Amino acid sequence: MTPDAAADVLPAGVLFADVVGQDVAIEQLRAAARAPVHGYLLVGPPGLGQKALARGFAAALLCPEGGCGHCNVCRRALSGVHPDLVEVERVGAALSVGQAQDIVAKAQRRPMEAGRQVIVVSDLHTARVAAPVLLKTLEEPADTTVFVLLADLVPPELATVASRCVRIDLTPVAPDVLGSWLAGRGVEEAQVAELVRASGGSPERAALLAADPQLAARRALWREVPARLDGTGAAAAALATELLASAEDATEPLRVRHAEELEHLAAEAEAAGQRGIAGRKEIEERQRREQRRWRMDELRAGLAVLAGAYRDRMESGSVEPRADERLAALMAAVAAVEEATRELVRNPNELLMLEALLVRLSTVPA
Ligand SMILES: [Zn+2]
Repeated sequence: MTPDAAADVLPAGVLFADVVGQDVAIEQLRAAARAPVHGYLLVGPPGLGQKALARGFAAALLCPEGGCGHCNVCRRALSGVHPDLVEVERVGAALSVGQAQDIVAKAQRRPMEAGRQVIVVSDLHTARVAAPVLLKTLEEPADTTVFVLLADLVPPELATVASRCVRIDLTPVAPDVLGSWLAGRGVEEAQVAELVRASGGSPERAALLAADPQLAARRALWREVPARLDGTGAAAAALATELLASAEDATEPLRVRHAEELEHLAAEAEAAGQRGIAGRKEIEERQRREQRRWRMDELRAGLAVLAGAYRDRMESGSVEPRADERLAALMAAVAAVEEATRELVRNPNELLMLEALLVRLSTVPA
């Protein structure tokens, strides 16, 4: 059977079994695997199954049957251990020039086993300085190398790199799709709606939150903020510390998963007779990055709850005396929370930012 014919009869979902709600992207990748070009750029917010998509695509590109889903090649590609699947994670805050040079060198290599090799590069949006190094390889690629670049977004510095690739957009998973997926995993109906709201369309985040018994308590803490602000700076400061600590607690299920990942890798390394986990430092650095990002997502979700708490107050107080004045204060409160949410992305000191916000909100009538 030719790879093309195999791809056509491939049972849907085998290669992408772990991906939720990205049917359009999967269809594009399956079509692309039949006659691949040298570069693909997957663009979308984190937590949408990027790694699983890249591995499924790699399996389709490396498998002699075009991605049968169960041969040895497919299985190794799907678990990220095929020698012709190269996965590059940034080490520091950004993908560095040194890492980009390393990618260029790897791109010139011949495949070890398969007819081609697949190089997956995560967090390409951070490669603002390193982008020119990658550009030349993307313009004159080895004909046996296929790039799969992953990015949260495409900043202007990366427009040229992006233009050398076929772009595939990933979108937050629709609430109803995410909801039925969660229900299918045994999440109770009452919890599904809360998880859908708190996850921002990310199945990865929703699944971790589902394993998190403290979610409801953390949401309640944010909802109570207006009532707990008594107009003093001391109350605002104490509450800011409490909110930040609760966001830190929220990373616990992720930390547990990370510890399991390291244990699993250590067992694999031992079984293979290796003395330790290859690239352990990079893996731990990525885990720390994921934990930071998780805390940020948690703060963002909390701020959304807080904005909602002020919006609810707008609807409830319309018949009170001085209603107009109160409404204006509540609208200003919502605007201040939204502004803080945008500031969060620019990564300021989170505690100072929260304190400043809460001091500002202290003047708003609860
Ligand atoms: Zn296969």
